[in-house]
Amino acid sequence: MSEDDRFVIIGAGPAGIAAAITAIREGIAGDRITVIEQGRRRDPSRVRGFGGAGANSDGKLVLESEIGGELHEWIKADIEALFDEVLDLYLEFLPEDRRGRYRAMRGRFRNPEAGARIGRACIRAGLEFIPADIIPLGTATCREVVSGWFEFLEQSGVEVLLETRVTGFRAEGDRWIVTCDDGRELAGRWLLAAPGRSGHDFLVQALEANGIETVNGPIDIGVRVETDARLTEPLTEATWEFKLRGLIEGERVRTFCVCPQGSVIVERYNEELLAVNGQTRPEQPTGRTNFAVLHTVTLDEPCHSPNQFAGLYIRTTIILGALNPIVQVWPNFERRRRSRMSDLRKCFIEPTLQRALPGDIRLALNARSCRVIEEFMHALDSDGLLEGLCSNRTLMYAPEAKLYTVRPARLSAELESERENLFFAGDGAGITRGLVQASASGIVAGREVARRARA
Ligand SMILES: Cc1cc2nc3c(=O)[nH]c(=O)nc-3n(C[C@H](O)[C@H](O)[C@H](O)COP(=O)(O)OP(=O)(O)OC[C@H]3O[C@@H](n4cnc5c(N)ncnc54)[C@H](O)[C@@H]3O)c2cc1C
Repeated sequence: MSEDDRFVIIGAGPAGIAAAITAIREGIAGDRITVIEQGRRRDPSRVRGFGGAGANSDGKLVLESEIGGELHEWIKADIEALFDEVLDLYLEFLPEDRRGRYRAMRGRFRNPEAGARIGRACIRAGLEFIPADIIPLGTATCREVVSGWFEFLEQSGVEVLLETRVTGFRAEGDRWIVTCDDGRELAGRWLLAAPGRSGHDFLVQALEANGIETVNGPIDIGVRVETDARLTEPLTEATWEFKLRGLIEGERVRTFCVCPQGSVIVERYNEELLAVNGQTRPEQPTGRTNFAVLHTVTLDEPCHSPNQFAGLYIRTTIILGALNPIVQVWPNFERRRRSRMSDLRKCFIEPTLQRALPGDIRLALNARSCRVIEEFMHALDSDGLLEGLCSNRTLMYAPEAKLYTVRPARLSAELESERENLFFAGDGAGITRGLVQASASGIVAGREVARRARA
């Protein structure tokens, strides 16, 4: 590795950080690595800053290749072994006693007996159950891990440029030149773009500017459901995160990101773009469980802007809520009536997200998604699943959307693009959708860069 060979990483989310830590452990000196992050060390946006969306996430480590991304489409390595590495990357930054406690949870929520019982209830309801091995760290513990990562990078001499937004990159000879919003230009022999969902627009522009072919991925739009935690207990006790899927009118719909005893929160992409999400703080149980119900929409020719389609839903919703998310009690959603404060007062549970204003989700969300979600909710309200869900004990929040649309059309098993030494990882490039797979993708790219640096 020559004196001026650097590894430049765009985005300090779990993908970018895992790449940096892996590269150091596999032989690249820390002072040869630069990580560029547009947010602050601790950022109020919940989707930017050191740790990325991961720093404020619910900290559920989902150790399944079928969940949280499509890494298995590219990676030839043993995915299970990779997930073990990811688990180590999180747990080793916690005190020894807690490490052991979390390790002992391996398999706890993938109990075959409970799985068989839930699976049978799903057959009766016309749904599918996906068992998953989950380790729920919770938000506070996840933040501790992220702090450990920061200290590790700092002590290893990594240059972490915070509050610096990358505006583009280009190839010059055997170097990648990265331009930043403060006018700075940085040169790297290897470049990893890991900008997460909040960096999606930047990535689309950068891919286009570099002539890299892309393909549309699906988008997920829907609502966040909040209900009485006692109602969800039979499922959350057994699985923590119940992953249920339906096929309604040929459309895919599913539960996602279950937060037992959690609260509904806001994630902010910019001044105009916000969405709801969920969080569990085990130390502060709320008596409510929330989860997303998402309708997967794939838009192909002639549409090249699936994100704009989802953006329209987000914008319309927050217009209705005067720049706030909206909340509707289930009976109003079902009867096609907007909710008002008086309906919220009559509801058996209080919303955990106080700033959400009562409104009418159907005015913003397309008719097909509403129909699919309504039918799916009725299927969930079945014997052995979430009986009692479709009642005055349930609230629906909007907008809830997951945008992972444009991805590079060609990536190698090491996540290198069609351009030499340009790698992609994480959610922004449409490769992953969760902490474990995002981190795993960073490990893969970081390892390959270290191998090339040693060669
Ligand atoms: C509230 C919430 C809860 C979640 N809970 C869970 C959970 O429990 N379990 C789970 O598996 N997943 C969860 N997720 C998803 C998880 O956080 C993401 O899948 C994961 O963080 C993706 O990692 P990433 O590194 O690809 O991207 P990110 O974490 O989004 O990080 C990317 C970073 O790149 C930076 N960036 C973007 N563009 C630029 C640019 N142009 N210049 C410089 N920097 C840039 C961003 O500021 C960001 O910090 C949650 C997400 C949210 C928002």
